[in-house]
Amino acid sequence: MARHKTHHEECDILVVGGGMAGTGAAFEARHWGRDLKIICVEKANIDRSGAVAQGLYAINCYMGMQWDENQPEDHVRYARNDLMGLVREDLGYDMARHVDSTVHMFDEWGLPMMKNPKTGRYQREGKWQIMIHGESYKPIVAEAAKKSADKIYNRIMITHLLMDENDKNRVGGAVGFNMRTGDYYVFRAKTVIVAAGGASHIFKPRAVGEGMGRTWYAPWSNGSAYALPIAVGAKMTQMENRIVLCRFKDGYGPVGAYFLHLKTYTQNANGENYEKKWYEQTKKLVGEYIDHHPTPTCLRNHAFVQEVMAGGGPIQMVTKEAFQDPHLETVGWENFLGMTVGQAVVWASQNIDPKYTNPELTTSEPYVMGSHATCSGAWVSGPEDISPPEYYWGYNRMMTVQGLFGAGDTVGGSAHKFSSGSFTEGRLAAKAAVKYIEDQKAKDIKVSEKQCEDFKKIIYKPLENYTVGRNEITGGTVSPSYFSPIQGLQRLQKIMDEYVGGISVNYMTNENLLKKGLDLLKWLEEDLEHVGAEDYHQLMRAWELKHRAITSQCVTEHTLFRKETRWPGYYYRGDYLKLDDKDWHCLTVSRRDPKTGKFTMEKMPVYHIIGDKEEKKAS
Ligand SMILES: Cc1cc2nc3c(=O)[nH]c(=O)nc-3n(C[C@H](O)[C@H](O)[C@H](O)COP(=O)(O)OP(=O)(O)OC[C@H]3O[C@@H](n4cnc5c(N)ncnc54)[C@H](O)[C@@H]3O)c2cc1C
Repeated sequence: MARHKTHHEECDILVVGGGMAGTGAAFEARHWGRDLKIICVEKANIDRSGAVAQGLYAINCYMGMQWDENQPEDHVRYARNDLMGLVREDLGYDMARHVDSTVHMFDEWGLPMMKNPKTGRYQREGKWQIMIHGESYKPIVAEAAKKSADKIYNRIMITHLLMDENDKNRVGGAVGFNMRTGDYYVFRAKTVIVAAGGASHIFKPRAVGEGMGRTWYAPWSNGSAYALPIAVGAKMTQMENRIVLCRFKDGYGPVGAYFLHLKTYTQNANGENYEKKWYEQTKKLVGEYIDHHPTPTCLRNHAFVQEVMAGGGPIQMVTKEAFQDPHLETVGWENFLGMTVGQAVVWASQNIDPKYTNPELTTSEPYVMGSHATCSGAWVSGPEDISPPEYYWGYNRMMTVQGLFGAGDTVGGSAHKFSSGSFTEGRLAAKAAVKYIEDQKAKDIKVSEKQCEDFKKIIYKPLENYTVGRNEITGGTVSPSYFSPIQGLQRLQKIMDEYVGGISVNYMTNENLLKKGLDLLKWLEEDLEHVGAEDYHQLMRAWELKHRAITSQCVTEHTLFRKETRWPGYYYRGDYLKLDDKDWHCLTVSRRDPKTGKFTMEKMPVYHIIGDKEEKKAS
């Protein structure tokens, strides 16, 4: 252990993860906390880290209040509709009322925004999306964070949160290790803002073998955002609300710009509009929700999944018409080059030119996240002015652990934030964290040397497992006493896939399968003590796996608790195939006891704070 040097840092605000939400948090923390010490710790390098790493082609959340295009209330109605009624409207409204100011800053900071030549406004791609030349998106927000924080630590993975020994429900910092040097880092902090992204690779992906590692959500999003708070007993919400995406096959290329800007459409192998075919069947499952406009994302997936199961595949995107227009053809290709270069490469390798061949679509494996079209994540306090008592406990975006805040994918209940909304939520969390410190809520935090040294032993154990275990190998790479992170990952993915509703079972599960899945996850947890890491990179893989495993347990517990199929197309409870508004028009909330590892579940009310006015059309 001595060979891993220990570094100590003390700060006021510690931001874990320097993606969209983390950079927003670092920036805003400085605005309100001029004299505070702010540190941001990032697993990769914040210039190109997080889901936005490659760049984006559109900012998916912009109200356009200055031109009266949309109001925050409209966005709440939109997200509520898409999530079949279940969102935290206080959080959604709070994000929406601030998001335009965030986008205006991006514009000032030099992000190239496309403008409508006729109106001079931002070029709309859809009602909520505006188009950007987004390759430089992440470096631009990273620069704002770098100029704001006292220090940015790159290449450090945070593995555990530190807890106050005077108040068991108060955070005291975090620990982790540098993946290049192997050094151990202790960050004692008055507040911690977790902004560590969503979770990919917990369900078996479609791309295995030749394409292993290819996923829609960023492959490095490993669920730390959930595992860190879950491990210290913070409550989580809507973890069953995993997302399945309809994307271009094999490259996971985005379809939004194709639908919205290029006006392309889908068809089955016979050239039919298959969505209409499944209307009556869907209505029997979910009732009037199928008549809502726009059709909730999961219900469109549902028609896709049913059509493929009925033998109507492959499903295609009709691009041949739009691509005859040279301008639209350019936009179609640029859409990938600025965001998912891999899709263009896949098409080239399969000899697909969308001008002459309609490319295939597929539904992805499920992902867990809180900023896109689903809302899994931490159960946090809302803002003082609009949150009902059950949703408010003093500081905006603070979890049920004192001093522990969240933003972006970390926060549950508030879907459709996307990149701009996540940055905005980081700002909101940071402002509240500053207030928490100013209110003297972070006084007398005690984090002993022993607590830090205990974590050090735990963190480097996979290296020890390997160092000892490799001597027992007599041939090849098969070890009797340790397994590699990739072996553990594939075991986890298989459990989640087969028992919790992945691709190989067409997203179907039930109580018996979920209980069996929980059993298998428990055995996996026990065996994870024996994961071995041959170097620091594999040590990161080992900890990513452990974080994915605890996230998966939480997802499975939530899926077992909700006895209905609220989101057909995301997953199905075969034993409760229908949506059940009478019993389940509610949010699910869990807490894992840090001592016993047992989860307890409860229902929380859904408050519809915003009325049902007709949505206005964006101009
Ligand atoms: C393929 C794809 C396309 C998208 N398209 C769009 C779009 O067109 N428009 C749009 O507005 N939004 C889009 N989004 C959504 C947007 O990217 C996310 O909403 C946003 O990035 C979420 O912000 P976040 O900070 O929560 O997570 P991220 O931006 O992913 O940041 C999380 C950060 O935490 C770091 N981290 C993780 N674990 C640890 C740890 N243990 N220790 C330290 N650091 C850690 C990661 O390295 C990462 O930098 C897209 C996302 C994806 C994946």
